[in-house]
Amino acid sequence: MASKKKACAKAGIFSLEVDLDKDITQEKLIEEIKKLNSDNRINGILLQLPLPKHLDEHAALEAISPEKDVDGFHPINVGKLYIGLDTFVPCTPKGIIEILKRYNISISGKNAVVVGRSNIVGKPIAALLMKENATVTIAHSKTQNLPELVKNSDIVVSAIGKPYFIKGEWIKEGAVVIDVGINSVDDPSSPKGYRLVGDVEFEEASKRASYITPVPGGVGPMTIAMLLSN
Ligand code: NDP
Repeated sequence: MASKKKACAKAGIFSLEVDLDKDITQEKLIEEIKKLNSDNRINGILLQLPLPKHLDEHAALEAISPEKDVDGFHPINVGKLYIGLDTFVPCTPKGIIEILKRYNISISGKNAVVVGRSNIVGKPIAALLMKENATVTIAHSKTQNLPELVKNSDIVVSAIGKPYFIKGEWIKEGAVVIDVGINSVDDPSSPKGYRLVGDVEFEEASKRASYITPVPGGVGPMTIAMLLSN
């Protein structure tokens, strides 16, 4: 949240953090969201996920006005994305498409594999890649032949949340690798005792990939940029 507020300030966007009690009731949470829906100063609302377990995330996201849903998680906006209408596009997937376009990486006709099928990353990036005319395969924890799927892909998007899960040797020569994962691994040599890494074996994969996004860096900062853009 701090980096989002900082980015807003830098871009001259007014931001307001509504810090709610972790024991808040569902009714009170919905009431707070409705207040923001009718607040004329506010034209974008984002609900920081995950919510505490006793709260209903779907109901809370549905309470956000679709016109102020800058995360693009409201079912109306999700539906619009899938049928190809203009709408708020979820920030991480939007940032991935932006990266591909800024680097003039062609998507049309390419084989893309998306590893992970979450509502915030996997599903929407698969929809966006398909909209850009890629042939898209979505893999998940029950997928049987992941190494083969990755080996046949020109574009690999990994959003799993497991360090170094995608092996460098799986990457096809010249493929484009987008690593969304943010994972903490122990690192006694770091002052914090840990460091952040992606889902992909970066060193090995970068020997074969034509492009690869680093972690940290890469997709993370683009997510915040796309939030501001929305
Ligand atoms: P989720 O936990 O919601 O989803 C993870 C997905 O990975 C699931 O679909 C799961 O499959 C799949 N998966 C788990 N294990 C395997 C496996 N062995 N083989 C193939 N697929 C597997 O995570 P998110 O989508 O929210 O986030 C994914 C990662 O991206 C996290 O590290 C997160 O921190 C990071 N992230 C980074 C962002 C950024 O700005 N850079 C933004 C958002 C997320 P199944 O559905 O079958 O359980």
